[in-house]
Amino acid sequence: MSRTLWVAAWGLVAMAGVSAGRFLTSGPLTETVHAAEPAQPAPLTLDQLVSGQLKIVDLGWSLNDTSPYWPAENYEPFRLKTIATIEKNGVLSKAFYTPEHLGTHLDAPNHFEKNQPAVEKIDPAHLFAHGVKIDISHQSDMDADYRLTVADVTRWEAEHGRIPNGAVVLVYTGWSQHWTNYPRYKNQDPQGKMHFPGYSAEAAKFLVTERHAKGIGIDTLSIDHGPSTDFIVHHIVNGAGRYGLENLARLNDLPDRGFYVVSAPIKIETGSGGPARVFAILPP
Ligand SMILES: [Zn+2]
Repeated sequence: MSRTLWVAAWGLVAMAGVSAGRFLTSGPLTETVHAAEPAQPAPLTLDQLVSGQLKIVDLGWSLNDTSPYWPAENYEPFRLKTIATIEKNGVLSKAFYTPEHLGTHLDAPNHFEKNQPAVEKIDPAHLFAHGVKIDISHQSDMDADYRLTVADVTRWEAEHGRIPNGAVVLVYTGWSQHWTNYPRYKNQDPQGKMHFPGYSAEAAKFLVTERHAKGIGIDTLSIDHGPSTDFIVHHIVNGAGRYGLENLARLNDLPDRGFYVVSAPIKIETGSGGPARVFAILPP
């Protein structure tokens, strides 16, 4: 049954005052397990937002010369140089240098796939989305190389309801607790291979194709887990024209659902991504 038909059917049943329990046991509709979906959170409004009634969580880290970055050739730390001071010049002004993929940042679709848009060409409408958080911190505690599975997503949906189409999906691994300790955060073994959690190819494909996620994010260095060498999750996400959000902060402050995500990457012409301000907007 299509989603539209199903919504219509549910509306009729609800109007008839039939309980969800009875509905679940009635005839051919039993396969539509969404009957047991928890109530959708009430929509938030922009008036609530601008009048300060909503909670805003800053999902970004401040940049400095100790900020973790991708440990590969030609990648360098963030640098900040003061080029004018109030004492000397009557004005404070600085210049900075950073790889695009350092700190809290967005991976543009052209990061891993040719013929996909650069960061400045991302449709701004795609940078505003419903947000959901999937917590795999327990699995990640047990296995630093853990990858979000489709079963994790299915379990989440059984508890919280279907992921809205076009959402930004955020995976919370708990890895952000290591942010201020770069060696621990990248967690390289003696061979230099990194170990931190990420998405599986199957889960990324499911989210992008079945749930039409606008983007997927994580609180580690990469949406692919640390040991990855083929970067399959990047290829899947970027190949579908979607973006990634990496090195996110404070995902632990988010509910499982019922919030919005706003991502504002720096607008570098031809850029493969860049430092981004990322905010979650929550009910009061
Ligand atoms: Zn990146």
